[in-house]
Amino acid sequence: RVVYVNGQWRPFRSAVVHVEDRGYQFADGVYEVCEVRGGRLVDERRHTDRLVRSLSELRIPLPLPLSALSVVLHEAVRRNRVRDGLVYLQVTRGVARRDHGFPPPGTRPSLVVSAKRIDPAGGEAAARAGIAVVTVPETRWARVDIKAIALLPNVLAKQAAREQGAREAWFVDRDGFVTEGASSNAWIVTDQGELVTRPVGPDILRGISREVVKTVAAAEGLTLVERPFTVDEALAAREAFVTAASQIVMPVVRIDGQPVAGGTPGPVAARLRAAFHAHAEFS
Ligand code: PLP
Repeated sequence: RVVYVNGQWRPFRSAVVHVEDRGYQFADGVYEVCEVRGGRLVDERRHTDRLVRSLSELRIPLPLPLSALSVVLHEAVRRNRVRDGLVYLQVTRGVARRDHGFPPPGTRPSLVVSAKRIDPAGGEAAARAGIAVVTVPETRWARVDIKAIALLPNVLAKQAAREQGAREAWFVDRDGFVTEGASSNAWIVTDQGELVTRPVGPDILRGISREVVKTVAAAEGLTLVERPFTVDEALAAREAFVTAASQIVMPVVRIDGQPVAGGTPGPVAARLRAAFHAHAEFS
């Protein structure tokens, strides 16, 4: 395996960044995770658009022109011979003497791009069985619409899930509404057959898969209502599922140990998952 680090392709085992990289010292950076399918990137454009937005909100310069970045992303896939898997991209504010304020003008942002293979059979098996989620209080900062590498609450939430035999954690805000998962957006299908997911805003990440599922839902003639939902509503829902580039559409069958929808994956999630890639863009 090889990894792109600031202009060079390095062997995976020996790829390094500087100890005073601001990503390392301050989590001062952003990232993207893009699905690779059949050797092609899924919705690359939407991911780079979101990257540009995250960077601009944090006033971190773009490390490369977008055309050059696209070449690096495709090279990561090609050089690592990834047919199905993920590309990971991280940009930080660069290397500078430790000081909370921004580094001197002209400091170059750091760019790391890696790619890894994932056997799609694992995801398909998980989707047939459905996953368990646990709920945790929302403790993240007020700008989680920025895809920042500062992920401590997400790390703790995911570990809490793991320790309870679950695959994902749902953050729940002070009013009892689910915001999103530790690394996914959260959805339910109500008894009326409506799809419900939280509207975008500073309190959730605008998931690319969330956007794709909106398109799929419209094409499938499903009604979508963007509003917050509670854990109780999810427990009483006909179906629940999560979306993320690494999960596509993943049915949720247990919440805090209680079965959702009889504890088996439902037809709506299956339909959305099956139709997903017909509505994604490949490059
Ligand atoms: N919400 C959070 C907190 C995430 O980390 C992710 C993805 O990792 C998502 C939502 C889903 O976003 P996407 O569909 O772009 O992968």
